[in-house]
Amino acid sequence: MSMERTPIHVSEAEQARQQSFMEEIRALPQRPETYYVVTYGCQMNAHDSEKIAGMLEQMGITPAPSREEADFVIFNTCCVRDNAERRALGNVTWLKEVRKTRPRLMIAVCGCMIQQPGMAEKILKQYPFIDLAFGTANLHLFPELMLQALNSDRTLVRVSQQDVIAEDLPVRRLRADSAYLTIMYGCDNFCSFCIVPYVRGRERSREPEDILREAENLLEAGVKEIMLLGQNVNSYGKGLEQPCSFAQLLKRLDGLGVPRLRFITSHPKDLSDALIETLAGSEHILPQFHLPVQSGNDEILYQMNRHYTREQYLSRVRALRAAVPGIGLSTDIIVGFPGETEEQFQDTMTLVSEVRYDSAFTFIYSPREGTRAARLPEQVPEAVSGDRIQRLIALQESLQQETLQRFLGMKEEVLVEGLSRRSDKAVSGKGRHGVSITMPGTLTDVGRIVPCRVTGVKNNTLMAERI
Ligand code: SF4
Repeated sequence: MSMERTPIHVSEAEQARQQSFMEEIRALPQRPETYYVVTYGCQMNAHDSEKIAGMLEQMGITPAPSREEADFVIFNTCCVRDNAERRALGNVTWLKEVRKTRPRLMIAVCGCMIQQPGMAEKILKQYPFIDLAFGTANLHLFPELMLQALNSDRTLVRVSQQDVIAEDLPVRRLRADSAYLTIMYGCDNFCSFCIVPYVRGRERSREPEDILREAENLLEAGVKEIMLLGQNVNSYGKGLEQPCSFAQLLKRLDGLGVPRLRFITSHPKDLSDALIETLAGSEHILPQFHLPVQSGNDEILYQMNRHYTREQYLSRVRALRAAVPGIGLSTDIIVGFPGETEEQFQDTMTLVSEVRYDSAFTFIYSPREGTRAARLPEQVPEAVSGDRIQRLIALQESLQQETLQRFLGMKEEVLVEGLSRRSDKAVSGKGRHGVSITMPGTLTDVGRIVPCRVTGVKNNTLMAERI
């Protein structure tokens, strides 16, 4: 598979064309009045949903409080794991029943799942009650596709394999204080278990000037935190007009004065010394790092096509900790990769004990059709993977209790997200190191950065007092 695919930048003329479709829909008497977007999967998908919502609102369509009450329900799907895909299709089928009492209900399905080979045919054959289905590469064409769907009683499916960069799509942000900002799309890594490069296309980076302009606008709008998004932000910069590495981009963003900058996701093989230096010298980049390890065994890492060894990974962790003492570390781990033996799994357990993460997202390997790992012999039985993940979770939970003790007595700052789930006299949000913190407060704190001192650890949360 060639890596040399030239990205397509959506032209201003095309943007204007889509704008005119939004206006046309706004004037249509038969357009839906309300919408609800159901999002599955990662932050990239969550941000795509914000763009869909932004376009719908420009069409004069307003959010519904629940999908049961909406005139137009959009499922933004994920296909990274089998269960997300099954859940999405199950929910779509449930809406078919709702349609019997509300014939004007409109249903759309979009996102990664639609990009999979054979999915367009499957939708047409098995889900003919869906009005519109479109892939990630067609997101910027949503107004045009929606207009066509409104004027037709057949299912409209649009999937293409282009590597698109679309600027200036309207966005309806989920939060006023914190915003996603995509810096790159797609992935060139082809980890053998992962479907992303097939459904999100080749790596392509947005021009730094476009990113900085968006960050400035967010800052002006009062945003306190920006989360930079990309499948592998560390390799940002491919194909730009003027060379710019991720470390250089971060430095420029740091200079804008956004109070909090975060980013996700990083590939260990691309974590450069320059980036670590930038983190250490930065004022606004938060001292936290999500560094997916996936396995602690060299043979499994090789089979996963991860391009690093256990020792190389550990040396990156040491470099991060030396440069940014106390940095919050989190990771992703897959258990039950094809052929994984108990001994190899134990290497993952010892790595977790050695690194001592603040949090770990653990997954049972899920074969994805079309990926190399799905064709490997020796798929691990479910019962074995299930047992391993339980042991891994138990280990991580006990270690986490210990690692979080280092925050006791420390000053922290919380960007308050809302009232605590346990009390209406307490608020919670994320601290600078990426750990959840709960402290006394009220609704008026939401969206503010509040200083505090950590007084305790309860499960995975830090308890704090205001200072
Ligand atoms: S780096 Fe690997 S796991 Fe991450 S999106 Fe790319 S192929 Fe998938």
